[in-house]
Amino acid sequence: MKIQMNSRKISSAKTLPILRRATRQVEVGSIAVGGDAPVSVQTMTKTDTRDVEATLSQIRAAASVGCDIVRIAVIDADACKALKKIVKQADMPVVADIHFDHKLAISALKAGVAGLRINPGNIGSVKKVEEIVNIARERSVPIRIGVNSGSLEKDILESDGGPTAAGLVESALRHVRILEDLDYREIKISVKSSDVLMTVNAYRLLSEKCDYPLHLGVTEAGTFLAGTVRSSVAMGSLLLDGIGDTIRVSLTDTPEKEVRVGLEMLRCLGLREGATHVISCPTCGRIAVDVRSVACEVEERLEKYYAENPKAAQPHVAVMGCMVNGPGEARGADIALAGGDGKFALYLRGNHLKSVKESEAIDALMEEVRKYRD
Ligand code: SF4
Repeated sequence: MKIQMNSRKISSAKTLPILRRATRQVEVGSIAVGGDAPVSVQTMTKTDTRDVEATLSQIRAAASVGCDIVRIAVIDADACKALKKIVKQADMPVVADIHFDHKLAISALKAGVAGLRINPGNIGSVKKVEEIVNIARERSVPIRIGVNSGSLEKDILESDGGPTAAGLVESALRHVRILEDLDYREIKISVKSSDVLMTVNAYRLLSEKCDYPLHLGVTEAGTFLAGTVRSSVAMGSLLLDGIGDTIRVSLTDTPEKEVRVGLEMLRCLGLREGATHVISCPTCGRIAVDVRSVACEVEERLEKYYAENPKAAQPHVAVMGCMVNGPGEARGADIALAGGDGKFALYLRGNHLKSVKESEAIDALMEEVRKYRD
């Protein structure tokens, strides 16, 4: 396996260009992962897969906020039947998440999935893996090897005295060798731990050992706040190192929130273009308007507007609480609201446009966004 480091400069950030590590490229349906493809954002549905409508509704919600790829747990033959219907109606590539059962993997491939997450070493025999690989090859479906600290092989755990970064990498490479021996290289890899430092170390080590595209994630990251912080620290560090081709933020929350956090992470690093960019003040004793509600609603309405109008100009928007710092910040944004006594001043490119009642501020801002041209 060949290592190529830091050969691509793709970040749009002016002050801190990120040099992404060169990786092979695989196609997950219509989404390219690795190579010069943008870092994609994934999520996983949390419904019973057999409930087609509930699962599709989560997929649509994730799509509405910009998700690129969705993964679905396939636990039995009924889930596989449902998968066929889901794949047909989903508006993004679907990856089947399967453990141990090669028959399910084959049925999922036949149901038309764009990707498979399965660990070849857990399938039971090389013959069974070969059956999967033959169909995956025929259909150009990549396989993700997904190693987690909670499911490492016994011998690795014994020799390392428990889960370690090196153990995660060793396990992943064992699975990789099985596929390579079958001459299959449409591979992505993840080495997730619930421990942030172990996750970072594992991916760093793995990125030195192979050039397969890497799927980043922290497993069992936690609820919204804890999971967002832990995922941002781990994946942010790796992405800054140029490591990572696709990401999934795991939260004990909705797929939609996972996608929003993932996208925001990429935007912060200049790895994702065309995004909602709202700054808002933390508020203090000077506010006389409800900045928190206004900022949250502006963010939601912009997400929706840009999802429905992907070609629309995307100005920088600011929502500030008062006339002390508000106008200064407003001048740095394309469109801004600065709060006063029960009303907001609306600014366009730093110029005061008009004052609007608090209740009309969001509509007035959205009207300026719709009219905005770069
Ligand atoms: Fe406080 Fe005004 Fe600054 Fe907001 S902009 S934190 S309200 S001083």
